[in-house]
Amino acid sequence: MKCTKCRRRQAVYLRSYSGEMLCRFCFKRSLEVKVKNTISKYRLLSHNDSILIAVSGGKDSLTLLKTLWRIESRIPSVTLAVLTIDEGATRSYRAEGLKLSRKICEDLKIPHYIVSFKEYVGYTLKELWSRIQEKKLELLPCSYCGVLRRRIMNTFAKDHGFTKIATGHNLDDEVQTFIMNIMRGDYSKLFRFGASMEVVPGFIPRIKPLRYIPEKEIAFYAFLEGFKLYETECPYVHLSMRDEIRFMLNDFERRYPGIKFSIMSVMDKLSKQFSKLSKTYFKTCISCGEPTSRDKCRVCEIMDLVST
Ligand code: AMP
Ligand code: ZN
Repeated sequence: MKCTKCRRRQAVYLRSYSGEMLCRFCFKRSLEVKVKNTISKYRLLSHNDSILIAVSGGKDSLTLLKTLWRIESRIPSVTLAVLTIDEGATRSYRAEGLKLSRKICEDLKIPHYIVSFKEYVGYTLKELWSRIQEKKLELLPCSYCGVLRRRIMNTFAKDHGFTKIATGHNLDDEVQTFIMNIMRGDYSKLFRFGASMEVVPGFIPRIKPLRYIPEKEIAFYAFLEGFKLYETECPYVHLSMRDEIRFMLNDFERRYPGIKFSIMSVMDKLSKQFSKLSKTYFKTCISCGEPTSRDKCRVCEIMDLVST
C-alpha cells in the first residue's frame, strides 16, 4: 500500500482517526509539523526563550527533545537544555532513562543537568514512601511525586535563568488527567487544562508541545528514531487510578476512533470559556514563600506530614 500523502513510498502507519496511511518519512514529518503548529498557534515559545526540557528518558520526553531540537535549534537566539530528575524510586528504575537521555544530549550537543529528590527535598521517593507507610498517611506516591517534581523543575529553572519549561505530556496523558479530575469530583481543576500556558508570578511557564499527539504515535516516532526504549515502568504505577482510566480510554478509542480528540476539544473549549470568568488567585506560601493558591503550599504540606 502506498503512502496517502506522498503517493510514492510504502505506507507503514495507519492513522485510524483520519484514515491516512503514511510512509516513515511523511509520518515523522507530520508529527513534527503538528508540534510546530501547536507551538505557533498557542504562542508557546518566543525567539529569545531559554528552554528547559524535562526529560525522564521515556519515549514521550525523548520525542519532545528530538522534535524541539529539530524545530528550535536553528534559531540562534533560542537556547535549549535538558533536566532529568532522579526520584530515587528504586535503584534500577531511573538509571536506564538517565543513560539514554545522556547519550541523546551528547549527540545533539545539548547541556544535560541531573538533580535528585534527595538533594532538593532531603528524601528519595522510596524513603518518602516508607515514611508514609510507617505513619499510615493517606498519600499515594503519584500524587506527591508529581508535586515535588514540578517544584524541583520550577526551582531549577528559576535558579538557572530559564524562561520556559517544556514537558512531554501527550494527548492521552492530558485526557486521562481530565477524566480523573471528573471522577474525583475535582471541579476546580477542570478548567485549568487549556493549551495556553498559565502566566503566574513565581512560576516559570510550563509548555506541553506534544499535547495533541496521541501516545501511540509518539511510540511509533520513538521507534522510527531508534530510541532504545526500555520496559521499566514506574514501580508505583499500579497504585494509581490513571492506569485503569488509560485502559478504558484505549478500549473506547479502538471502538470509536477519535474520542480522545473529542474529549480534548471539550477541554479546550471549557478552559477558554472559564478562564475569562474565573481566575485562580495566587498568594505566597507562609512557610516557603513559593506561589500557591492556598496558605501553605502542597509541597510544604507534604513535607510537614512526612517529617514530623
Ligand atoms: P509523567 O508524569 O511521568 O507522564 O511525565 C510527564 C512529563 O514530565 C514527561 O514527559 C517529562 O517531560 C516530565 N518528567 C517526568 N519525569 C521526569 C523526570 N524524572 N525528570 C525530568 N522530567 C520528567
Ligand atoms: Zn511552601
